Amino acid sequence: MNFEQFGLDPRILAGVRAAGYTTPTPIQEQAVPVVLDERDVLGLAQTGTGKTAAFALPILNRLAKGPLRRVRALVVAPTRELAEQIHQSFVSLGSRTPARSMTIYGGVSKGPQLAGLRRGTEIVVACPGRLLDHIQEGAIDLTQVEVLVLDEADRMFDMGFLPDIRRILKHLPAKRQNLFFSATMPKEIRVLADEILVDPATVQVGVIAPAETVAHALYPVPDGLKTKLLLAMLEQTPTGRVLVFTRTKHRARNLAENLQKQVYRAAALQGNMTQNRRQEAIDGFRSGKYDILVATDIMARGIDVAEISHVINYDVPDTVDAYTHRIGRTGRATRTGEAFTFAAHTDESMIRDIEKVLGAPIERRRLTGFDYGTYTPERQAPQPQHRSPARAPSRSSATPPTPSARARQAQPASAARGFGGSPASRRSPPGRIS
Ligand code: AMP
Repeated sequence: MNFEQFGLDPRILAGVRAAGYTTPTPIQEQAVPVVLDERDVLGLAQTGTGKTAAFALPILNRLAKGPLRRVRALVVAPTRELAEQIHQSFVSLGSRTPARSMTIYGGVSKGPQLAGLRRGTEIVVACPGRLLDHIQEGAIDLTQVEVLVLDEADRMFDMGFLPDIRRILKHLPAKRQNLFFSATMPKEIRVLADEILVDPATVQVGVIAPAETVAHALYPVPDGLKTKLLLAMLEQTPTGRVLVFTRTKHRARNLAENLQKQVYRAAALQGNMTQNRRQEAIDGFRSGKYDILVATDIMARGIDVAEISHVINYDVPDTVDAYTHRIGRTGRATRTGEAFTFAAHTDESMIRDIEKVLGAPIERRRLTGFDYGTYTPERQAPQPQHRSPARAPSRSSATPPTPSARARQAQPASAARGFGGSPASRRSPPGRIS
């Protein structure tokens, strides 16, 4: 399948080529034709599958004709980072069309948003709170909206946005196309989808399991040794861009500071930072100014950095879903990546839940040469019960280090070896096609 087969406007195809996309991803193959047919869609897919272009391309196609400078497409997203990322996709894919896109979110001044609305725009990508402010102040007219996209609906529910969403819906025309995307379908989201969607086509790309282009490994370690282990790992492992997740904002800030002290080019991305500082961290990570970004779950939503070689879970996430989202940051599109999880003894039950969803045990490893002191990871973490008979190639070779990987020169890379972990246990789980 290629993009030409969708029958998109040539100006949009030019945007697709400029973005470097050659083959549609599975979600694009499924969703683009139905969205072009102006049907409602329930999309069960998460970030990393190419879902943004799956709705952006047919929306741009629709907007390439018809009246200009009125809001005809509204995308609602849970975080500013995701809103920015979606907006950038519209800008890049639609660069040769007359359609304009703008973002609306809180934490920044309203002035430029008001000016943008006054100038006129066809696409608004918004977070719920600030959008409601503009609605209540009469600054935005949503009566001409033809397409509504709710992106990451499950995350909007987690963040308490459902009442805001329902308020926003009251300001939209009843006759419109609705595109509803969610990685998971908790009951509340199912109810909302039923309220909004009319005879939807369901498109689905393996919902739960992370990308099969990602290799997973677990490093049993007590909490007090995590920073040392991370530093030792960064020394030993050839890495490109590394995204590290911590449980709290404090831990993100402290860890980033620790890494900076060790002369790593690291930045934090956490909720106590101003919007400008957050954007600087994301832009710096994307441009290569920072090799390591230390983030909390909510802040990392919507980070669209294509070449993340490693996701390191410094702290085990609270939910299996969060694990999937974190891991979705690497191995994106057709790239490969590695996901390392530091697990303390107390994390065992969450690890078991994650393994259930992956459909395979995660390989336990210990870092060669690292001083674990009195801690014996072998005893804390039993070896996997089940091994794949297939010998998967090592993924490390697929993610070569970039010269900028570390400000400090790493020692020669020696593969971290699992205790008893033959390469056979390094297999990707079945699941989502990325
Ligand atoms: P998304 O799931 O929309 O966040 O997209 C994940 C990543 O895949 C983004 O970096 C997109 O730019 C990229 N992407 C989307 N569609 C394609 C495609 N057809 N070919 C290659 N990369 C793509």
